[in-house]
Amino acid sequence: MPVLILFCLKKFYRTAIKKYPLDIIQITLDGQKERHNHLRSLKKSLKPTFDIIVSNIKNIVRELTTTKIHIRVNIDKTNLDDFFIVKKFIETEVGSSNIIVYPGIIRLENDSKTNLVEPSFSRWETAELLFNLFSNGDLNGSIYPTLHKAKTCCAMCVNSFIIGPYGEIYKCWNDVSDETKIVGYINDPKIKNPQIFYRYHTACAWYNDKECRDCFFLPICNGKCAWYGERNLFHGGKYNLCQCMQKAPDLLNNCLEAYYNKITKS
Ligand code: SF4
Ligand code: SF4
Repeated sequence: MPVLILFCLKKFYRTAIKKYPLDIIQITLDGQKERHNHLRSLKKSLKPTFDIIVSNIKNIVRELTTTKIHIRVNIDKTNLDDFFIVKKFIETEVGSSNIIVYPGIIRLENDSKTNLVEPSFSRWETAELLFNLFSNGDLNGSIYPTLHKAKTCCAMCVNSFIIGPYGEIYKCWNDVSDETKIVGYINDPKIKNPQIFYRYHTACAWYNDKECRDCFFLPICNGKCAWYGERNLFHGGKYNLCQCMQKAPDLLNNCLEAYYNKITKS
């Protein structure tokens, strides 16, 4: 593409995004600099991307003062420290109250996509990790259940969609670029794949899940992930899908103790 057209396009997008700033931008890093660059270099030139992304974060902070930036640091059991290292780095290098750095817990499945495998954290290990991060103040959030109006995510909300680069529509982030999971196109009113569409927001809904319906923690708990639910219901999956920290083995007592300490200190 000629340089002049590229320059004009860049200017057009800069002006448009400044005029209509996004509320939130999520940016993912695959760990601290060395690990990120090892996993995410440019496809053709193999050039590293960590420094470019950090520079772009600084640009966003400077130019889009009302936009929140959520920086997700991907972690599994082999690089938990990367979350703390990147968080400190961003706080020192960028230091904006518009930024939240949080751990993105990577889920890795076996070949048949029926269960999680190492080195990803299991559901209960994730619950314990989050409990520690929240109770140590490493992550803003509450170990005490909070009621959300919306249950779970885009896949389960009838009017939420993910738009792909060709105008194709998905219901779940996990499905992006999988042609068999496209549910429609932005220029076509028809649902293209009603089976997956209805499986996500009806078959996998909490009100069709006996375990959830009978559970003490509903409606405070936000329900289960529909993508993994679909694997369990229709493909022989064996994923543990409970989302509630208080339901993890031994964590209820820890949560109650933390709560007791909090109210007796205040
Ligand atoms: S704790 Fe588990 S079973 Fe209970 S409502 Fe939440 S996801 Fe469903
Ligand atoms: S269905 Fe699960 S994986 Fe997909 S967007 Fe919702 S929470 Fe994420």
